[in-house]
Amino acid sequence: MVSVEEALDKVLSYVEVLEPERKPILDCLGQVLAEDVYSTINIPPLDNSAMDGYALRAKDTHGASESSPKYLVVVGEVAAGSMPTKEVRPGTAIRIMTGAPLPKGADAVVQFEDTDEVSRKSSRGDLSQIGILCQAKKGLNVRYRGEDIARGNLILKTETVLRPPEIGVLASLGHSKTLVIRRPIVAILATGNELIGVDQPLAPGQIYDSNTYTIAAEVSRYGGIPKILGIGRDSVQSLNEKIDESLDADMLITSGGVSKGDYDIVKDVLAEQGEIGFWTVCMKPGKPLAFGVIKRMKGKRKRKVPHLGLPGNPVSSMITFEQFARPAILKMMGKKTLIKPTIRAIIEDNIANADGRRLFVRVMVTKRGGQYHASLTGPQGSGILTSMAKANGLAVIPESSQRVKSGDVVEVQMLDWEEEQGEVKTLPIVSIVGKSQSGKTVLMEQLIAEFKKRGYKVAALKHSHGGMEIDHPGKDSWKFAQAGSDAVCISSPDKLAFIKKLDHDLNIGEIMPIVGSEFDLVLAEGFKKSKIPKIEVHRKELGNDLLCSPEELSAIVTDGSLDTDIVQFSWGDTVAVADFIEKNFVLNRQSNTFLPPRRKRAR
Ligand code: AMP
Ligand code: MG
Repeated sequence: MVSVEEALDKVLSYVEVLEPERKPILDCLGQVLAEDVYSTINIPPLDNSAMDGYALRAKDTHGASESSPKYLVVVGEVAAGSMPTKEVRPGTAIRIMTGAPLPKGADAVVQFEDTDEVSRKSSRGDLSQIGILCQAKKGLNVRYRGEDIARGNLILKTETVLRPPEIGVLASLGHSKTLVIRRPIVAILATGNELIGVDQPLAPGQIYDSNTYTIAAEVSRYGGIPKILGIGRDSVQSLNEKIDESLDADMLITSGGVSKGDYDIVKDVLAEQGEIGFWTVCMKPGKPLAFGVIKRMKGKRKRKVPHLGLPGNPVSSMITFEQFARPAILKMMGKKTLIKPTIRAIIEDNIANADGRRLFVRVMVTKRGGQYHASLTGPQGSGILTSMAKANGLAVIPESSQRVKSGDVVEVQMLDWEEEQGEVKTLPIVSIVGKSQSGKTVLMEQLIAEFKKRGYKVAALKHSHGGMEIDHPGKDSWKFAQAGSDAVCISSPDKLAFIKKLDHDLNIGEIMPIVGSEFDLVLAEGFKKSKIPKIEVHRKELGNDLLCSPEELSAIVTDGSLDTDIVQFSWGDTVAVADFIEKNFVLNRQSNTFLPPRRKRAR
């Protein structure tokens, strides 16, 4: 059994960077440039205007302002795509559109908004003149020739990975084709007597071949070209026939038939037809992984095709693909970064690693309170493909680590990022608002006690307009602040306080990362202006109006009865208010998008 690193080294030592090909730039997305690209033109090709306005001489605007405009004679107009026919002489201007070449004599452009054009037009005034309402500096709103790309310069270096902006740069240089390392052709073969194609009816004992599809999709995703060979049966003859079809490919990936079962003959065929690099890797899932090179004659030519024999279990085959096939494909494409980006996340489950292999655990990573958290996506059996579909990362538990406890920090290979990552869970937060003396603090105390009783970890936030009572003159912390420290932290055996000087009133979004993410619920008092779910405390004696507008409120707690269709609770019925918060904001976390829930009729 080899280690994951030894296995990867071996695989990479058998694949080479492929040869370059010239092809249309739009087909090159994600490929690696195989030549230095120099510019034969200037971009922009001429000095031109960055605004719709008037091209003029900056000197002529000296002292211009809204109260004392400078008037210039308009001698012409120029639009993008045409050349100016007149020049700007002292005391004149030319009306100009964005992208149009700057007329001779002009050295600045004043945008329409800083001229009297609109008022002239509305008063049907004389448009042969224009009033300039601001003083322009030389170069104002002028884009100079070659300021983006200068003729003769190296613009894109060989080995650059082509993303949309690079493809745009190639287009802006007038290149319709470019030279890139070609994409590898990866032959994909599923093996197993039990497998059937997705377009066939299932007979007893059969299952649909899914590995072909996951592997082909992965190959495409990372830039290769999948060549689907279909399903090979568990016989030497069937496999040999299929392998023949793979000899033109740059790599063969099979799935299944590499374990120790009676019908697991893929590695035997490999041993007979070529050489085995390794078989079995110290990882879980994915231990029975075979790698070698198929050596066979095709016509008169001897062909050598690297062969990765992935295990048949759908999850094992995907995880081993990620660890070994993906880097091999990227290397063949000329890429330099072959390993997956990893992050460090707080694991939210206990994990045991009994047999000393490297464990790859399917997790969903979310970012909360400035921290990454990883939670298991359910049962981790290597046949449970949906656990992969729910995951955006693989937590990597080292061979040497026998168990990981919830709260430990683990390394996670990210499979997907950003918009593919799904909705980020947010820490539930509800604020209690109300007029002064309405009883906000009393309700806060009651709710905190109620949620503690229910077993929640609660953080309470208070917005205080006045000073801060804990910052007492004479205390050491106060003295440090007086001496000029920007923040003071006081820690005692059972409490921590952090007092930081601010230059503005923080909003909830800025406070939450400081609060951290260890809580189940944040209850805030005040923060009327924040866009978070709000419950207003209403007191009859303070009038029938509300502090917040109805559309901002999720509920009202009142000692009277208001004529509104917002959910209302009677003052004192704290259990019902807590139920409402729990149901709408704590348990239904995904829908907590800082907006009040849908209206209900009054109870
Ligand atoms: P094997 O490695 O051939 O023993 O296969 C291990 C498990 O993976 C068995 O339960 C197979 O039925 C399953 N399996 C193998 N190949 C595929 C495939 N192409 N699609 C779905 N499941 C597969
Ligand atoms: Mg099999």
